Amino acid sequence: MPGNTLHSLDELVTAGLTPDVTPELREVAAQFSVAVTSAMVDLIDRDDAHDPIAAQFIPSIEENRVAAEELSDPIGDARHEAVPGLIHRYPDRVLLKPLHACAVYCRFCFRREQVGAGSETMKPEELRAAFDYIRAHEEIWEVILSGGDPLLLSDRRLAEIIGELNDIPHVKIIRIHTRIPVVSPERVTPELITALRGAKPVYVLLHCNHARELTDAARAACARLVDAGIPMLSQSVLLRGINDSAEALRDLMRAFVECRVKPHYLHHPDLARGTGHFRVPLAEGQALMRALRGHLSGLCQPTYILDIPGGNGKVPISPVYAREEDGTWCVRNHKDEMFDLPDGF
Ligand SMILES: *Cc1c(COP(=O)(O)O)cnc(C)c1O
Ligand code: SF4
Repeated sequence: MPGNTLHSLDELVTAGLTPDVTPELREVAAQFSVAVTSAMVDLIDRDDAHDPIAAQFIPSIEENRVAAEELSDPIGDARHEAVPGLIHRYPDRVLLKPLHACAVYCRFCFRREQVGAGSETMKPEELRAAFDYIRAHEEIWEVILSGGDPLLLSDRRLAEIIGELNDIPHVKIIRIHTRIPVVSPERVTPELITALRGAKPVYVLLHCNHARELTDAARAACARLVDAGIPMLSQSVLLRGINDSAEALRDLMRAFVECRVKPHYLHHPDLARGTGHFRVPLAEGQALMRALRGHLSGLCQPTYILDIPGGNGKVPISPVYAREEDGTWCVRNHKDEMFDLPDGF
């Protein structure tokens, strides 16, 4: 764990980040882990009751409200768990979850019931079984380290995992999903970068939801990775009160591009338990995507993605710009003008 992380409600009270600890709030913290790194604590505007950084990490009693449709495993990881810690949902890629801890605990997390205090790192024999499975399945082209946050592993353990994957001939690509460059930028050390570098390309997917998270320190951490030849892409979650406006999304996507992080996925929020206060209707998400398309550089366009509940796969849910009617294609531009395409399409 990075130093100076606040881990308990009492620590949050002492830091002035939550007014008082009610029994309802204790109930939340008993179910869902709490952690806020010093980088994020420093970023919180205590005078703003709707601060988009605080809203992501400071527990709220709204998390006790569980809607009937919410699920403890919203994207159906368990259904596709091939061996413990390894999810094989799509033919060409697997998700490996070497540890279940994160540097921060996001209040909207889709894996909030799998990550956190008390959950463990994969045991050496479990990791061996996962590598055996990957070795035995030649269709696996890509291994995605996810979590938990894989960059919380020690440099030595990361280097071991990357080394194992580098030794499996059919694995060509290693991908790491992480929040570390933003929430603990000091963790992106030369030693960490050395641990990642090997024979095979390592892509880093940065999870970040608000432009303010990309502080000077976070930008410098991204630059260290990109300068080392590690391509970076973004993933964000569309969240009520955090980035559910065209301006917030514009600023976020532009900030990514300025950091040489290619905007990749904007996730529609999952049906995780106690996260209803973060959810944005799909139609509103599509309207926001429309506000980006054409008005912002093509470099700034993420794909709007929904993970179908129950583990049925990710699908793009972007607005539709083209439809066919009686054999003629009709397309809509960013000014909402409609054009019939001539024959030949
Ligand atoms: C999201 C996810 C992936 C990766 O999907 P991409 O569209 O390639 O990012 C792979 N496996 C599982 C189980 C996933 O949830
Ligand atoms: S860093 Fe990712 S896995 Fe960890 S709590 Fe946040 S969203 Fe969940």
